[in-house]
Amino acid sequence: MDVAALQAQITATFGQRDRARGVDGTFRRLVEELGEVAKALRGTDRAALALELSDLVAWTVSVAALSSVDLDQALGRYARGCPRCGLSLCRCPPDGVAR
Ligand SMILES: [Zn+2]
Repeated sequence: MDVAALQAQITATFGQRDRARGVDGTFRRLVEELGEVAKALRGTDRAALALELSDLVAWTVSVAALSSVDLDQALGRYARGCPRCGLSLCRCPPDGVAR
């Protein structure tokens, strides 16, 4: 699934509800999902972790859509490797600020 198609589908499915909740409330849900990912990482259930990661991405897509960010275009900065050093195998210092 490509990111543009995912953003279009999530907007069609949840856009009305997301707009009613607003960007702040939707961002709060994203942060809650991040906590659920952290909790799943402490366990051994990979299916549960996959579910939480998919929710995290879906909420991220909702926040992007509410903020008029084209996530497919935004993620393009990673399409050819590291957006900071430009290499496919990142050579940035380990604690660099690129990501
Ligand atoms: Zn790099």
